[in-house]
Amino acid sequence: MQPDAVTLQGRVALVTGAASGIGAAVARRLVAAGAQVAIADLDLAQAERLAASLGSGVAIAVAMDVTEEAQVEAGVAAVVQQFGRLDILVSNAGVQHVQPIVELSLADWRRVTAIHLDAAFLTTRAAMRAMQTQGAGGSIIYMGSVHSKEASPYKAPYVAAKHALIGLAKVVAREGAVDGIRANVVCPGFVLTPLVQRQIPEHAARLGISEDAVRSQVLLKDTVDGEFTTVEDVAEAVLFFAGFGSNALTGQSLVVSHGWSMQ
Ligand code: NAD
Repeated sequence: MQPDAVTLQGRVALVTGAASGIGAAVARRLVAAGAQVAIADLDLAQAERLAASLGSGVAIAVAMDVTEEAQVEAGVAAVVQQFGRLDILVSNAGVQHVQPIVELSLADWRRVTAIHLDAAFLTTRAAMRAMQTQGAGGSIIYMGSVHSKEASPYKAPYVAAKHALIGLAKVVAREGAVDGIRANVVCPGFVLTPLVQRQIPEHAARLGISEDAVRSQVLLKDTVDGEFTTVEDVAEAVLFFAGFGSNALTGQSLVVSHGWSMQ
């Protein structure tokens, strides 16, 4: 087997929302690259199953609602206690909510923006404090989206929060540089995870078209090849940011979307 080009041997990562979908693939990829990984999620049972499948000593499950300050603080402290350090944060937990603005409740706006944006702040603050104490730098990666750059109808809180993550990453890049802490955003196109699978029948009902037509005419309409992005594609981009060795690559966002969005 070829040795991995990027080695994260001796590094510790915390991935939120890692019990499912993209987060789970990121956790698997970081472990394959040599890191020890904390799998943080609301779904502790699923996080524990994934941690166990990755092998003993390399992964732990952490119960965490990323919108709850005390749970984020306790979760980050547990990771540092268990593995002795924290080098990489992947702020990834997320949900989708599809509804026109004129029908949207303030409660749903707050719920969706809290999971994406409040959580990014809370996990960043806790991780930066740990990284500053260690004095060995670190890498903070936000799971943005093509919706960090483009808009679709009916996804106002999601699109607004995903755009805001780019602003947050730029501030963290500026504040973190003195300590060697970098911040970047990975922006996937549509990936067939439970988050997207749930939307397909909703779109079909709303638009009065088949689920196949939703895939080809709505979700993948602007890609170069009509293909979904895979969880492995996204994990590879996260690994690139995680393993990069200097402040040369910070405050950036990288779109991984089969050309849906091009800059
Ligand atoms: P998913 O539904 O497969 O996984 C999301 C995970 O987040 C779940 O395990 C869930 O339990 C967890 N989670 C939700 N709320 C939480 C909370 N409050 N605290 C802790 N954990 C919580 O979804 P996914 O597609 O893997 O999405 C992961 C990230 O990728 C999200 O930020 C999403 O916006 C982003 N993203 C997804 C796509 C896509 O097409 N799937 C595209 C672009 C960006």
